[in-house]
Amino acid sequence: MSALKLYVFDCGMLRFESIEDFSIADDETDIRDLIVPCYVVEHEDGRLLWDGGLPSKTADVDGWQGEGMLSRLDRTFSEQLPEIGLDMSSFDYAAYSHMHFDHVGVANEVHGATLIIQKTEYDATFADEVTVPGVDPTLYDNLKDAERILIEGDHDVFGDGRVRIISAPGHTPGHQVLFIDLANTGPVVLSGDLYHFAISRQDRRVPEFNVDRDMTLASMDRSC
Ligand SMILES: [Zn+2]
Repeated sequence: MSALKLYVFDCGMLRFESIEDFSIADDETDIRDLIVPCYVVEHEDGRLLWDGGLPSKTADVDGWQGEGMLSRLDRTFSEQLPEIGLDMSSFDYAAYSHMHFDHVGVANEVHGATLIIQKTEYDATFADEVTVPGVDPTLYDNLKDAERILIEGDHDVFGDGRVRIISAPGHTPGHQVLFIDLANTGPVVLSGDLYHFAISRQDRRVPEFNVDRDMTLASMDRSC
């Protein structure tokens, strides 16, 4: 069995003036910057893109931009991919932890990949009238009719148990996390926005903008 490989890309940063929307008081931690990664999983049977970072247009402006919540993107994902010999049409599968704007920034730029998405997330974020906060359908609307695998629960991506999408709803209707069994670290869970800060995990803090608090707590119970 050949080794799985996981590549991590810098797909931007967010900076918050206040983190109270995460149900954390501003004096509980000094941390205000959150990283926004994109991941590429290389398996002998295919290649998976997991999460799509900030919108590529963020890189049109140098440094931090916006107000309240600042963002920055120093190099787009498509500029970085050639470093591992890939481009935006190199993926067999694409899956996003959820459809918030900071996780699907490159979604419309990915070509030829089969989308793996929870049915609940698809129904909520491709609806004629999208009511989920924090999503921007113009970032992912090309995917509406893309080849897709609609899942309702967990999904073993390559069928050998080493790369598994785990349903973890609550942050959004169909939020999901990625379990990956790496040879040199052992099992790792890429937890999307199930947790934003260490204190979120320690104290089970649920952001105020999550769509379902009880569902989030149940997802935390399942994945810890
Ligand atoms: Zn989110």
